[in-house]
Amino acid sequence: MARDYYDLLAVNRNASQEEIKQSYRKQARKYHPDVNKDPGAEELFKEINQAYEVLSDEEKRARYDRYGEAGVTGAGGGAAGYETVGDIFEAFGSIFGGAQGRSNRGPVRGDDLRLDLSLSFVESAFGCEKEVQFDHLESCKTCKGSGAKPGSGPITCRTCNGQGQVRQAARTPFGVFTQVAACPTCGGTGQTIQDPCTTCNGRGRQVVQRTTKVSIPPGVDEGNRLRVSGEGNAGLRGGPAGDLYVDLAIEEHPIFQRNGMDISSEVSVSYLQAIFGARVTVPILEATDSEQEVDIPAGTQPGTIITLRGKGVPRLNNLARRGDHYLTVKVAIPTKLSGEERDLLEKLAKLRSEKVKKDGGFLSGLFSKD
Ligand SMILES: [Zn+2]
Ligand SMILES: [Zn+2]
Repeated sequence: MARDYYDLLAVNRNASQEEIKQSYRKQARKYHPDVNKDPGAEELFKEINQAYEVLSDEEKRARYDRYGEAGVTGAGGGAAGYETVGDIFEAFGSIFGGAQGRSNRGPVRGDDLRLDLSLSFVESAFGCEKEVQFDHLESCKTCKGSGAKPGSGPITCRTCNGQGQVRQAARTPFGVFTQVAACPTCGGTGQTIQDPCTTCNGRGRQVVQRTTKVSIPPGVDEGNRLRVSGEGNAGLRGGPAGDLYVDLAIEEHPIFQRNGMDISSEVSVSYLQAIFGARVTVPILEATDSEQEVDIPAGTQPGTIITLRGKGVPRLNNLARRGDHYLTVKVAIPTKLSGEERDLLEKLAKLRSEKVKKDGGFLSGLFSKD
C-alpha cells in the first residue's frame, strides 16, 4: 500500500487539475482489469482510482500533501472507500460498458477522520478527559451547505434536465455500448450552481479548526481506537457527518510495566532485609502518586515475585475490577564495606566455613554455597 498518489497518476506534485484528470484517464485505461490481465493490474487500478479521488479534490489534495495517506483515508477508508467505489463506476461509465451510471443526488455521509492521541500511563489506567484539536469540514454557515450565494439557489442542470444521468454511446474494445452515465456537468446531482457562495467557493463545506473534549474510559491500552460520533467531516446534501477516530498511544511509566491488565515493577532490598525480613514501602498504581507497605518475608530469595492482588490496571471501563501488580524482589549486595562490617562478615564466613577471598572486593559469594 501507500504508493505515492502523484506517482500512481504519473504527474508531478504541482500538476494542474486538468493534467491530473488527463493523466488519470490514461493510467486508468491502461490498468483497467477488463483490458489489462497482468497480475497486480487490478490492485493498481484500485490504487489509481483512490489517488484520483484524492488529488482531484483540492481539499483532499491539500490534506494529502500535508498529512499523507492518513490525512485522507479516514478510519481504514470507511466512508472514503464507499465514495471511491462510486467514483470508479462514474468515471468508467463513460468509457467502458458494464458499469451502471449512478445518480449522485442523495445525501452523502461525511468522511471519517482519524487522529493520534498520546496518554500518560496513569491516564490510560484510570481514564481522563482530553482536549483534542483537528481540522474538519463543516457545513458552510453562509450558504447553509447549498454552495449557492445567499438569495440565489441551485438551478436545474441544463445538460441532463435535472435527471443527474445522461445516455451515451461508448466505443470500447468490446464493441459499442449505450449506457447511462452520471451527468458530467452536474456530477449527478441534477442541479448546478450559477452564483457560487464566496465563503466556500460553492463547495457547501469549509475547513474549520475544531477543539473538542474526548472522554477516555479507564483501562484503555496501546493501539485502542475510540470513535467520537459526528466529529468527522460534514455530510453533503443533508447527509450525516462522519465520525472522528482517535488512536491511542500510551507513554511508558518510569516504574511500572504493563502487560494487559497486570503491571510489574521491582523492589530492591538489602541482603540483611532479605535474610531477616522487612516491611518496605513501594510505589503502587493509583490515580494520584501512592505507596503501600509490603512485607518481605525472612529468607526471601532474589527474583521472588510478590503479588499485590487487584492493584493492576482496571478492566476497560470498569474501575472495580483490576489486574494484579507483580513485584520482583531484587537483593542489593554492598560493594563497599566499613572495617567493622568487614570484620563481622569475615567472622560469619568463618562460622559457616565458607571459602571467601579475604583481601578483594569479591563478597557476592559470601552466603551462597556454590
Ligand atoms: Zn457557502
Ligand atoms: Zn446534470
